[in-house]
Amino acid sequence: MRAGAIIVAGGSGTRMGRPKQFLPLAGSTVVEWSLRCFIGMPEIGAVSLALGPEALAAHGGRLRAGKVRVVAAGATRMGSVRNAFAALPSDLDAVAVHDGARSMITPEIARAVLAEATRSGAAVAAVPVKDTLKRAPRGAMTVSETPDRAQFWAAQTPQCYRYEVLKEALERFRDDADATDESQLVERCGRSVALVASSYENFKITTPEDMVMAEAILAARAGARETKVGFGFDIHRLVAGRELWLGGVKIPHDKGLLGHSDGDAVLHAACDAVLGALGLGEIGMAFPPSDPKFKGLASREIVAHVIETAQRAGGEIVHLDVTLIAEEPKLKPHYEALKNSVAEIFRLPTARVSLKAKTHEGLDSIGRGEAISCHAVATVRAR
Ligand code: MG
Repeated sequence: MRAGAIIVAGGSGTRMGRPKQFLPLAGSTVVEWSLRCFIGMPEIGAVSLALGPEALAAHGGRLRAGKVRVVAAGATRMGSVRNAFAALPSDLDAVAVHDGARSMITPEIARAVLAEATRSGAAVAAVPVKDTLKRAPRGAMTVSETPDRAQFWAAQTPQCYRYEVLKEALERFRDDADATDESQLVERCGRSVALVASSYENFKITTPEDMVMAEAILAARAGARETKVGFGFDIHRLVAGRELWLGGVKIPHDKGLLGHSDGDAVLHAACDAVLGALGLGEIGMAFPPSDPKFKGLASREIVAHVIETAQRAGGEIVHLDVTLIAEEPKLKPHYEALKNSVAEIFRLPTARVSLKAKTHEGLDSIGRGEAISCHAVATVRAR
């Protein structure tokens, strides 16, 4: 199966007092927790993320990498789903639509809903309603009825569809702006929608106290994981006539690192450290220098691949510690820029990246300014 995912994160956060998608949550942000679940699923070939205008400007460039494409949210949820759907490839078997604010989604739940949708056409993650339900006429505060709770399910996301089922629903109800989910449009097409039992942990972060519960759940999950450490090393020749790229930053210098890609020794060493922590080999296995298609490759593409590989293996990068060894140029003035850039490229908070540089005391090739090398240590939490 080849599936795509739509992540809707265009809301204005009226019940939170501010947009909630990029609030810090357990070492990442609300929407990035949702994103990482789908990025890490090998059966998901493309993820389309819909962001409001401010978030798009602030985070769009950073998140647009690997299988993730970023689109502008619409005026309503359905508008966002339409924009995101249009950005997905058309050869998908199934599409999962997920609320960006359901940060506790797991691959197991997403996979179960996708499997049911592939079988029956449309499926929705849902949990039995826990509270007794009371009906009161609109605006009234008097009970008119106590319906049978056993008949009610609270719908969550992901809501998954065979590609053509979602396409039909979005096309037939092109002008419907009020639907609160797409599955009601699929129902109106006369199709049945299956319920897939989900978890109460997969709630939508809506009000400030939800953040407290979300932190607690994600912290408990993190505590159940093992901490692993990996080491990476890289060295490149420093030659005239090349741009100098370190940690995704172009450093003004009259020489640059010679390499098949952009020669970014910082990103290469950090990637190898992450792969090392998980016992997943090294970047040369996925990006062989002998393959002409990787000539001139921007190393941030290598990082996007490594993040996906790590997430697929259940790994979560916790910290990176990087030491550059260079006689020239002087790197101290660039520490902040390098650190911020490495953090951005690895989708980590800046506090989780350490970066420093040494000279080689004039000794050997690095000391003569013929090369720059880099050591990196990655701390990774894994299942
Ligand atoms: Mg290298």
